[in-house]
Amino acid sequence: MRTAYRCRAYPTPEQAAVLNRTFGCVRVVWNRALAARHTRWHTERKATSYAETDRALTEAKKLPELAFLNEVSSVPLQQTLRHQHAAMTAFFAKRARYPRYKSHHGRQSASFTRSAFRMRDGALSFGKTPGALAFVWSWSGIDVTTLDPTMATVTRDPDGRWFVTFAVDVEAPAAPVPTGQVTGVDLGLTDFAVLSTGERIAHPKHMEQRERRLKRYQRMMARRKKGSANRAKAKQKVARAHSRVRDARRDFLHKVSTDLVRRFDAIAVEDLAVANMVRNRRLAKAISRTGWTDFRGMLTYKAHRNGRTVAVVDRWYPSSKTCSTCGHLLAKLSLGTRHWSCPACGTRHDRDINAAKNIMVAAGLVETRNACGADVRHDGQPFVLSAVNQETRPVKVGDPGP
Ligand SMILES: [Zn+2]
Repeated sequence: MRTAYRCRAYPTPEQAAVLNRTFGCVRVVWNRALAARHTRWHTERKATSYAETDRALTEAKKLPELAFLNEVSSVPLQQTLRHQHAAMTAFFAKRARYPRYKSHHGRQSASFTRSAFRMRDGALSFGKTPGALAFVWSWSGIDVTTLDPTMATVTRDPDGRWFVTFAVDVEAPAAPVPTGQVTGVDLGLTDFAVLSTGERIAHPKHMEQRERRLKRYQRMMARRKKGSANRAKAKQKVARAHSRVRDARRDFLHKVSTDLVRRFDAIAVEDLAVANMVRNRRLAKAISRTGWTDFRGMLTYKAHRNGRTVAVVDRWYPSSKTCSTCGHLLAKLSLGTRHWSCPACGTRHDRDINAAKNIMVAAGLVETRNACGADVRHDGQPFVLSAVNQETRPVKVGDPGP
């Protein structure tokens, strides 16, 4: 199993110069290869292999105008071609969008495999870069002097902060003890998530303040004259505010996903098809802000790593409108209705908790604690229709895919 440690790094000006040059070369190699793939696809309808891009790189290095590619370590250049190939494979498998060109405005990165860096007694150095790169190790439980990474990736964020990420192969941890607990999770806009246990997980605090600050800086930057020193200063502020928003959100998503995987053997979530929903402009901002896609990704890999299960329920399943007690299906439930009473069995429902319970049941999950059936619907007929229903389709359960 592979795990990664991300640390703040503090390169000396000399090291920063070499690494910045490396980033530039990585960008050139990535963009040239992407353009070549694109052209070839549109003229010959042929996909390009990694080996072909690697050969093209060898040829490119002989061109006088690209001779500068020889001045940096060749490993990150090959690595970026490998990454691109993986990105293309993911695209063709419909798992990811088409890879984009790299710009010098975005996050810069260079990956070094074992042949291109040295890690000895906790000191990290790279080929063609002077001295050891200073970084902050913050895992007190792990002795950095014994760390044996297979890859080291140096990144520079748009706000100017540097990081180094160590990839390490570790033995898979022993499967955690089953907790006997399962849950359905309803992701929402009012609360970040509501569990079938009745628990509510609020959105991260201070997020709106952070976003307001970011907007203010963006407006400030827009008012500054292009190319001016003040504009550059404002730009730094925007980038920093941006990192703050992103980091806070990521911390939150990590915390929630880790907690759920620790507490539950199986977790059911709805397939939200965020990509489709995001086309609705009004919802788009709210949804992308909550980070549902990232959350599901984290949940899935952590569950996989810990021997837990994530089940995904088809997005057409009417989880909000179905009574989790008797299975009665409402004809209509407006978005603003937070509570409702079932006309068939009289149960009073909280909209979100009811949805979470249905998601759990639809995924085939049963609380083992309630094996007597107190909370579980099973009359063999999942839906009792009270009106013409426009959106029932079979419930899909299983591997959520990558
Ligand atoms: Zn009912």
